[in-house]
Amino acid sequence: MLFSELVELYERIEATTGRIEMTNLLVQLLSKSPPEIIDKVVYLTIGEVYPPFVGLELGVADRLALRAIRLASGAGEKEVEQAYKELGDIGLVGEKMLAKRSQATLFMEQLTVEDVYSALERICKAGGEGSVEMKVQILSGLLASAQPKEAKYILRIVTGKMRLGVADMTVLDALAIVFGGGKEARPVFERAYNLSSDIGYVAKVAATEGIEGIKRFRITLGKPIRPMLAERLGSAEEILQKLGGKCLAEYKYDGERMQIHKKGDEVMIFSRRLENITWQYPDVVDMIREHVKANEAILECECVAVDPETGEMLPFQELMHRKRKHDIHKAIEQYPVNLYFFDALYIDGKDLTLKPIEERRKTLESIIQQSDQVKLSKAIFTDDPRELEKFFHEAIESGCEGLVVKAIGKEAIYRAGARGWLWIKLKRSYKSEMMDTVDLVVVGAFHGRGRRSGTYGALLMAAYNKQKDVFQSVCKVGSGFTDEDLKKLPEMLEPYKIPHKHARVETGMDADVWFEPKLVLEIIGDEITISPIHKAGWGVIKDGFGLAIRFPRFTGRYRFDKAPEDATTTDEIVEMYKRQLKKITATPAGQGQEVL
Ligand code: ATP
Repeated sequence: MLFSELVELYERIEATTGRIEMTNLLVQLLSKSPPEIIDKVVYLTIGEVYPPFVGLELGVADRLALRAIRLASGAGEKEVEQAYKELGDIGLVGEKMLAKRSQATLFMEQLTVEDVYSALERICKAGGEGSVEMKVQILSGLLASAQPKEAKYILRIVTGKMRLGVADMTVLDALAIVFGGGKEARPVFERAYNLSSDIGYVAKVAATEGIEGIKRFRITLGKPIRPMLAERLGSAEEILQKLGGKCLAEYKYDGERMQIHKKGDEVMIFSRRLENITWQYPDVVDMIREHVKANEAILECECVAVDPETGEMLPFQELMHRKRKHDIHKAIEQYPVNLYFFDALYIDGKDLTLKPIEERRKTLESIIQQSDQVKLSKAIFTDDPRELEKFFHEAIESGCEGLVVKAIGKEAIYRAGARGWLWIKLKRSYKSEMMDTVDLVVVGAFHGRGRRSGTYGALLMAAYNKQKDVFQSVCKVGSGFTDEDLKKLPEMLEPYKIPHKHARVETGMDADVWFEPKLVLEIIGDEITISPIHKAGWGVIKDGFGLAIRFPRFTGRYRFDKAPEDATTTDEIVEMYKRQLKKITATPAGQGQEVL
């Protein structure tokens, strides 16, 4: 397949503003992609070379790309710099410089998708000494064989700025249409995706084995399963009621979620957002080899930092010491960890995700040899709200965040990739007067004035609308930022800057600067109110109005561990609003009642 065919569709996708139109263009693209390379077509279209969990990145900064452009086009340094300053988009710079190049390109052989993909693969794999030079050489060689428009997209991909707005979810829609006969087939494709987190692989199975292949899709060791997530409620009674009167309640440990894949002695650890974090935890790898009595396993646990002197659990932040490559061995000694296992998804060839939780937990018990450091999560089966409440306080007292209360019975399967009512969290903050924190995505910013001139005065924050796959604004947040935050925010957000509102953002606000929805921040506010400007929960509570967070502040917590799609959903904001309303109307007559 010629790369120019892809580029032609990219051009059309770039010009669209609507998601439906974008899906239709993707359908065209996938329909004509040969099955052997459809995975590559998919990765390139979302601006990647491998699925994120592989952890191999292109690592080409704009500076490097500019050098490659110079080499490929023969243009001078000044000229390229000037174009970069003017255009601000590395892709456009490449397009312009290559259009001007002197040698004849008429008889040049046309690039295929494989050519481009294999060059990008080589760039990803270039490591060690001299790797920067090697990357520049490979890239300039590729650009030299590219037409100007092709160069534009190659450069955007290598610098991580593809930004067509095509996400995994859009590809799933298109796959269901092309290989499943229509959007109704989407759930089976979604399950395949949830079991592998690899959209390219799902496309390949669909193209080579058809819908039947997707229906019998299997878990693969090494490909992470998308995590099951919890809903939230405010009291033990409400939770028990929601779960039909009985439950399995577990401590909610405040650490880092791990999905552990074991095959013989080989161990891989994936984070909550499915990045391979094995290198951060060599001690955990040893613990798994020693304590997991199964040859093949996929297990979930919470990894918690503990005080080496007392063995007491420490707050989540202490795990930050594990993020620095050179000090790992020191960190292991100074900040040891305990593991608390709470799920078993796959054991020795058997997929357990469709088995009820009681069975999964029994399996866990049978394969984990417990010790002081390696345990099962503390849990009780109960149908008594008072007992549940007591267990909750006990959890808080021992340093946990609260409870994750789980449904039991036949229906209580592991719902990969879903936030649902089978798991409900009860956290301490819900008990206080203040609303719980939310995790929101930065989609825009407003220039600062006075002391804040030169940085941002406020950020426009959005929640994720899962049904529409868009980000809807809920507040403009200007407080809670330290001087250091204010200094580093423009830098952090720079790579996501775009010239107009992103196609997947909905807001009634006109920001000074727009961003691709990427960075997730934890925000807390005083309450949720009805808003004519913000679009989250639009029309759900009241026609023509959305919901907003009043008096929002940044808590200081950057949620780098969350992808934008993991942000608080608009449905959750609506739920929080309704719960808060219940609370307000339950106070003595007249106080704080909100009129709709
Ligand atoms: P939060 O910000 O509240 O941690 P989240 O969005 O990161 O929420 P949720 O699905 O809302 O994730 O809450 C479940 C999280 O709680 C899991 O991701 C896991 O890391 C953690 N956890 C701790 N103990 C347990 C347990 N016993 N069972 C399930 N999850 C647990």
